Amino acid sequence: MSEFRQDPTNGRWAIIAPERAERPLEPNGSAGTAGVRAAFDPDCPFCPGNEAMLPPIAEQSACDAPPGWRNRVVPNKYPILSLGGGQPADPLARGYGRHEVIIETPRHDADLPDLAPGDMHSLVEMWHRRFTAALELPGIRSVQLFRNHGKGAGASQGHAHSQIVALPLVPPGVASALAWAREHYGERRECVTCAELARELDASVRVVEVTDRFALLVPYASSTPFEQWIVPRRHRPCFSQSDAEERAALATLLQRAAQRLASAAGRPAYNIIVEPGALPAQGEPAVHWTMRIVPDLTTPGGFEMISGIAVNPLIPEECAERLRDAAQPDMR
Ligand SMILES: [Zn+2]
Ligand SMILES: [Zn+2]
Repeated sequence: MSEFRQDPTNGRWAIIAPERAERPLEPNGSAGTAGVRAAFDPDCPFCPGNEAMLPPIAEQSACDAPPGWRNRVVPNKYPILSLGGGQPADPLARGYGRHEVIIETPRHDADLPDLAPGDMHSLVEMWHRRFTAALELPGIRSVQLFRNHGKGAGASQGHAHSQIVALPLVPPGVASALAWAREHYGERRECVTCAELARELDASVRVVEVTDRFALLVPYASSTPFEQWIVPRRHRPCFSQSDAEERAALATLLQRAAQRLASAAGRPAYNIIVEPGALPAQGEPAVHWTMRIVPDLTTPGGFEMISGIAVNPLIPEECAERLRDAAQPDMR
């Protein structure tokens, strides 16, 4: 039997449709790991030694071991938006904003499950620095941090990377989730995500793992099989307000979540998004930042497009069980 579910934290709907599971899942591109990949690709602009193919490096996290860096930041060569000569009178007409790429590792063949713990931590710190700095740019009203891994998830480069886009507006999808959270706060005087987290920890059926600082859950109204949701246990509106201990804990838990996904679903393509992104109004009690890992295992069709309702063929509670059991990561 199918079941309608509405995400209590943002109002988005999903239909959990186990009958659809009789159709094969579509691991869209399986992160491009068909066959063994080399640690270096001479044609990849993100590989060390190929800097001539890149715009100038904006920042990098140095280390002693060759090639001398853990991760680095460059402007996107094909940006969605650009700062140009400064803030224009009409930022929307000119596509004003900033679009950066974080090259996450010198290794062409590595993904989050493969990184050394220190490199993972350095990456989360780099995300935090660039994300926070982007919010300070003049005329910027929201900043989005995301990661596309694998061709099916929209990655044009096989080399592990993430992106930060600074926008002169609050995107409609973010605005509607914010409005939902604010309405809940207005009615109940509580943060909707804090309330959902407490219910989930109590019920325990969709919990994958809990640490001092974070909970790793499969969301009640998951839009795809094996979706995972990293929720800070301390109420803070924005990732930019996380403290050093939280970032260290996030690095560890995010890597474990990626390892669990790789192990349970065979290294599918996936996206990571930070919600609701950074916003100038950061003191608000209604908004609670979180991170989602959304595997690319189904292909949305006309129904999803017209309805805005996701169709998920796997039951979230069963996904949580399989992710919990995926103890040993699929390490190479
Ligand atoms: Zn590369
Ligand atoms: Zn909260």
